[in-house]
Amino acid sequence: MGISLSSADRRAGLAGRTPSVATLCSHSSLQIFYGARQEGLPTLGLAIGPPHRYYDAFPLARPDRFLSVPKVDQLPTVAPELKRSGAIVIPHGSFVEYLGPERFAQMDVPVFGNRAVIAWESDRRKEREWLELAHVSMPRRFEDASEVDGPAIVKYYGAKGGKGFFLAKNRESLKDFRPTGPYVIQEYVLGTRYYVHFFYSPLSDRGYRVGHGSLELLGMDRRDEANIDELYKLGAQEELLKAGIRPTFVVTGNVPVVLRESLLPKVFDAAARIVERSIELFGGMVGPFCLEGIMTEDFDFKVFEISTRIVAGTNLFTSGSPYSDYVAPGLSMGRRIAQEIQRGVALDRLDEILS
Ligand code: AMP
Repeated sequence: MGISLSSADRRAGLAGRTPSVATLCSHSSLQIFYGARQEGLPTLGLAIGPPHRYYDAFPLARPDRFLSVPKVDQLPTVAPELKRSGAIVIPHGSFVEYLGPERFAQMDVPVFGNRAVIAWESDRRKEREWLELAHVSMPRRFEDASEVDGPAIVKYYGAKGGKGFFLAKNRESLKDFRPTGPYVIQEYVLGTRYYVHFFYSPLSDRGYRVGHGSLELLGMDRRDEANIDELYKLGAQEELLKAGIRPTFVVTGNVPVVLRESLLPKVFDAAARIVERSIELFGGMVGPFCLEGIMTEDFDFKVFEISTRIVAGTNLFTSGSPYSDYVAPGLSMGRRIAQEIQRGVALDRLDEILS
């Protein structure tokens, strides 16, 4: 194992050919394959075990071919075949989480975006350092349970789908918490949640300029989270506990939302500063990312998480969103990724968007 080749070596197989788009068959793969097809790129689905039959039900989003491995940790073994096929791998939340951030970062294939971002996102402390350097408003963090002076949430590292999180109404109730892995304790923020889907293009020279490229807002959603949703979560927790049920934040679906137009500058400002800081810290984030935050009643947008790749909430907008329609009618995040690849090929600048 280990990283044997540089990013330039990994891209060598792409020279002079139409790249194909490959991703793990899950999460947002239908959207990614459909978007690639709309832009005329061939597609390749990576399946764990036999491909799911649901792809047969969606002919426009079914990949042109599948590559199957029996187990997820065997995915790196398909790297030579992916390179022979001129594939570009599109990361999504499940891909990185199932394989593990470290193994994903070491996959010996061209990956869309800057894989250096994974180290900054998968460790909640590093993620916070990045966002703090970008002067983004965030929930307070408590180094120790003894510092807690109000409602708090204890969260584990990585995108665990909100499993095993612990909500504490006050310091006293934190004594019941038994950690099962690395965690952080944060202020529990009261407000309304927004998951804001951005795309940063280093290749674009128009629009909302950030760094050498531009920032696009393509959509927004809110997640449905079981078993605790939606109102009065702390109160609900007590009722659940009385019934012997531990509250969880397991994502079960997504609903579309829009933000008051007057609040858009807040999310754009935060996103722009995060991109600028990413350029200084690790050469820049590229492509889709999602700012996940809570708008408080006094309009402070507190970012509790950043996802640095396509999020499943974008699946709501496969034929456009109330925001992406003002960028280009019917534009999905999956299609935007394919467009960026096509642009990279046309301008001979793939090196700026792949790693
Ligand atoms: P995360 O793993 O950070 O995306 O958090 C999962 C879910 O926990 C979020 O979708 C929110 O519903 C909730 N959450 C996370 N952090 C906070 C916070 N500081 N205050 C209130 N709710 C939070």
